Amino acid sequence: TPLEKIRNFSIIAHIDHGKSTLADRLIQRTGGLTDREMSAQVLDNMDIEKERGITIKAQTVRLEWKGHVLNLMDTPGHVDFAYEVSRSLAACEGALLVVDAAQGVEAQTLANVYQSIEHDHEIVPVINKIDLPAAEPEKVRHEIEDIIGLDASGAVLASAKSGIGIDEILDAIVERIPAPRGDIDAPLKAMLIDSWYDPYLGVVILIRVIDGMIRKGQQIKFMNAGTQHLVDRVGCFRPKIEQLTELGPGEVGFITAQIKEVSQTAVGDTITDVKRPAAEALPGFKEVQPVVFCGLFPVDANDFDKLRESISKLRLNDASFSFEMETSAALGFGFRCGFLGLLHLEIIQERLTREYDLDLITTAPSVVYKIHLTHGGGEIELHNPADMPDPNKIEMIEEPWIEATIYVPDEYLGPILKLCQDRRGIQKNLTYVGGRAQLVYELPLNEVVFDFYDRLKSISRGYASFDYHQTGYREGDLVKMSILVNNEPVDALSMIVHRAAAEARGRHMCERLKDLIPRHLFKIPIQAAIGGKVIARETIAALRKDVTAKCYGGDATRKRKLLEKQKEGKKRMREYGSVQIPQEAFIAALRMG
Ligand code: GDP
Ligand code: MG
Repeated sequence: TPLEKIRNFSIIAHIDHGKSTLADRLIQRTGGLTDREMSAQVLDNMDIEKERGITIKAQTVRLEWKGHVLNLMDTPGHVDFAYEVSRSLAACEGALLVVDAAQGVEAQTLANVYQSIEHDHEIVPVINKIDLPAAEPEKVRHEIEDIIGLDASGAVLASAKSGIGIDEILDAIVERIPAPRGDIDAPLKAMLIDSWYDPYLGVVILIRVIDGMIRKGQQIKFMNAGTQHLVDRVGCFRPKIEQLTELGPGEVGFITAQIKEVSQTAVGDTITDVKRPAAEALPGFKEVQPVVFCGLFPVDANDFDKLRESISKLRLNDASFSFEMETSAALGFGFRCGFLGLLHLEIIQERLTREYDLDLITTAPSVVYKIHLTHGGGEIELHNPADMPDPNKIEMIEEPWIEATIYVPDEYLGPILKLCQDRRGIQKNLTYVGGRAQLVYELPLNEVVFDFYDRLKSISRGYASFDYHQTGYREGDLVKMSILVNNEPVDALSMIVHRAAAEARGRHMCERLKDLIPRHLFKIPIQAAIGGKVIARETIAALRKDVTAKCYGGDATRKRKLLEKQKEGKKRMREYGSVQIPQEAFIAALRMG
């Protein structure tokens, strides 16, 4: 396809403003799918994505409109996947900004639109859901101008649901978004946007060609990875897979090259020709590193091999999570896993539970600390609180910090400020944009990975949005807090906390566990300790009654049921010395709330 006939764009929207519905509509209008095939939303295809309304993997669709080829890039919708988003955006020249005509500009819209502006995109505003009685398109038009600072005089009024404005949107893409630039005669240079494992095709690599041509049978090289491969397929998605003979400058499509693992295909890498390589790689390549670590252990020790297989399978499709075997005195054999963030962790955990039917215990998530040892002992990276060296061998501990941007309606500002303050935040800026506060805070990542996002959402009734990036490491007064149940440390519950917060966190943890651990026939002390010093303590009173006593002997079925239930419960418990802790207790205890 000649460059002037190509348009590459993405869709920016706050959650629920209609991004997926519009994407489906564009595909349908341009003939990619029949009405029947439209019944299920095409772009979000994983269960978890549908439930949470976010896109986890970038998808792309080639549309044809009035002699032009339009490539729609769907971008992941969560801060954990910020780097993938940045690469998808780098592959586009423009974006549709979809704003709900009844809701107006929302926080996430802003965060995304600024990113798009940073990539020099031409932005076409679309005011969606004009079919709603509560729609106020003119008000929203002014919001786009006042809050974002974009000219919205040419905004397209649309209803993705009723099919209003769809042709206008397609025309606007052709007329207003610039064609890509590139040199067909230059050596091949293509950006790796995304990759995933397909059981039939092997690893499928989504690319944007910058210069030159890529063809079937070509010997290619990944410039950052340094590896070479033979291209065996070239194609695009419409959204059904279609094989092509080649892809030229400005084009978006996929290749396969007999690659078995996605770990060999780093997002952002530059693909070039082996015989006639490009002089230099594309800018902006970054190796993504897991930032949040936790242990995953099977509730039933017999499931260990199944867990290993399941984790390996998931890893085939996700190079950004890491795992290695871990043993815990209390939990037995499991894996220490690294993730891009807490949502990423939850996704993997949910998939293991749902798709592979595993019962898991997750230990407290932890960030990576840098520990400077005394007497020139050097520096170590700590991924697991259980590996914390003896305190007198530690000279200094550094922890990762982030810069967070929060958008929140005025009325919730007070409690949000308090939340940030409680989490050791340092306020950098507070401005108002169109009746909304924009807060910039520096926060320790450790204070954010637990439940910051959930708290933020519940305090603001869902209206606050949150975006962050890491800014580096800083020294912190951090200590390892252990939890002892019946005088035995439970390694899965130990965590690294700031000294000033340790007592409150410890007390809270003990109180929680007191409610979560069932009574036993003896008294159980629960303690939080730093080193040898107990900082909080609770006691679970002894239980005397027989569980079946309530049944008055008569009702045999009920008695049997109760015993069965108890047996079932036992399976899901972990024994610590002579104390049994239900699986739910770990999960609940680790949530701070
Ligand atoms: P996304 O989160 O931005 O992908 O939003 P979806 O496309 O999933 O849409 C969110 C909800 O809004 C769904 O229930 C859609 O059916 C609905 N929706 C999308 N577009 C329109 C529209 O133009 N009008 C109305 N009334 N509802 C819409
Ligand atoms: Mg969606």
